[in-house]
Amino acid sequence: MVLSDTDLDYDAIVIGAGISGMYQLYRLRELGFSVRVFERGTGVGGTWYWNRYPGARFDSESYSYGYSFSQELLDEWDWSERFASQPEILRYLQYVADKFDLRRDIQFSSDVKSAAYDDDTRSWQVKLADGSTYKSRFLITGVGILSQPTLPKIAGIDSFKGQSFHTSRWPHSPVDFSGKRVAVIGTGATGIQTIQEVAKSVGHLSVFQLRPEWCAPLHNSKIQPDEMEAIRANYAEMFEHCAQTAAGFIHDVDPRNTFEVSDEERYEFWERLYASPGFGIWQGNFKDILTNPEANKAISDFIADKIRERVNDPTIAEKLIPKDHGFGTKRVPLETGYYESYNQENIELIDISETPIQRITERGVLTSEREFEFDFIIYATGFDAIFGSYNRIDIHGVSERSLKEQWEEELATFLGIQTSGYPNMFMIIGPHAMAGNNPRAIEYQVNWVTELIKHMNDRGFTRAEASPQAQRDWRDYVVEQGKDLLRNEVDSWQTGINMNLEGRQTRIVGMYSGGQPSYRRRCEEVAQNGYKELNLR
Ligand code: NAP
Repeated sequence: MVLSDTDLDYDAIVIGAGISGMYQLYRLRELGFSVRVFERGTGVGGTWYWNRYPGARFDSESYSYGYSFSQELLDEWDWSERFASQPEILRYLQYVADKFDLRRDIQFSSDVKSAAYDDDTRSWQVKLADGSTYKSRFLITGVGILSQPTLPKIAGIDSFKGQSFHTSRWPHSPVDFSGKRVAVIGTGATGIQTIQEVAKSVGHLSVFQLRPEWCAPLHNSKIQPDEMEAIRANYAEMFEHCAQTAAGFIHDVDPRNTFEVSDEERYEFWERLYASPGFGIWQGNFKDILTNPEANKAISDFIADKIRERVNDPTIAEKLIPKDHGFGTKRVPLETGYYESYNQENIELIDISETPIQRITERGVLTSEREFEFDFIIYATGFDAIFGSYNRIDIHGVSERSLKEQWEEELATFLGIQTSGYPNMFMIIGPHAMAGNNPRAIEYQVNWVTELIKHMNDRGFTRAEASPQAQRDWRDYVVEQGKDLLRNEVDSWQTGINMNLEGRQTRIVGMYSGGQPSYRRRCEEVAQNGYKELNLR
């Protein structure tokens, strides 16, 4: 028997109190729904709650990243920097939670262990680590795509006698590195932000690098009060613009091809981009740099020369230049003085592709060359991305197999929001959804899910499940859209490759890459046609 609303603990359960979960709570409350958000941390903020490592900050312009749904919030909040740092971002999200009184429906320190759907009662039963269970009609996951950290699979990791942290599990009180010997393992966007910050105060820093990444300068600056007023006056236009760009950033791709212009014009353009703040050099570059291998090689050579100019020791410079992938085929880490860090006497780069780490010892790190002694080891080794935050929860729908097993067999979702076999479960930026400047994608998807639930509620429907055909069509479309993109030919978290996990050796297309306008168009079509792909009943 379908459970009536009065037999349920909540109309909806939301997992995660990050940017997705907080906004989903706000929107469902507007429908008059009873909602419970379960959050494993002790506070709101998701990514920005967990990633407290030194130097953590935005790579999107602060004002383009904040929520757009409340004019009051936009009027009240001033960003202090073009690319705000983690403490400011967390303060912002705490301010949002206070302003909309969100905390009263969020249960912190609540780790969701399993979620099971019962088709007879059309309800989800969610179980927490403490054994408590809760029933709801809808289950919405706001678990993020980069929230399940991975430690390296290196022998002896527990034997180290000093302090060690994964960047995403950083202590809540400041760590003082002055005069200390510190190791950073991992040189992705997180490692790079950490290294350039720790370098400012450390006694000695050893960076263990497997493969370098292509970086570009952030060019951060303070936002003066008059600038903030100008930004505020332009919010509506700016958000509308972000909705039209490929990945939700403020940067617009240049409509020209790389070799359509003279050499002089091309290099002048690239110099200008390299000297400009943010992702312009990646998202605002010639339209073919991420699809045409020759164009990609040309921009990669340009950036390689910049690295050579900035690093004094030519041998170190060469080690910092990627050889296995082209510029922009991974999300570009934005840096501030990262390359110059290697000109400091007390910073050393250890190329572990030449001298691999053999084990972590009591004192530090043993490579094939020698043992290094440390007071601290920082693991900036990334995440079990895209599915990791789902796989850690035992999610069961209408079939025998779990969601993890289903996705291991074949990764497929409908719009990255629903999965066949898991009725009434909606994902915010799930696999094969649009991401990029994430809050832009999140707000869109939360609004879409809320409208769907409202539609169901208004008509007395209690079940929504994507048809296998709709799901197959979406998967094919996602794969098709990703075909020409060089990023899908590179090992990275976006293609599902993480050397620290068992299995998954073959690349997948993890997220939708056809651009926001087409993603939104498809979502709107589905809504306008009465959500027939979701078999509402
Ligand atoms: P990541 O890009 O996956 O980088 C992980 C790093 O650890 C890589 O350098 C990897 O080397 C290395 N590594 C992994 N396992 C290792 C092992 N066993 N031994 C040695 N090295 C190992 O993770 P991330 O740096 O955390 O960044 C992930 C994403 O988060 C970024 O792409 C970005 O989207 C987001 N992010 C955004 C910001 C921001 O500015 N807003 C900041 C940080 C992160 P290989 O590459 O050689 O495998």
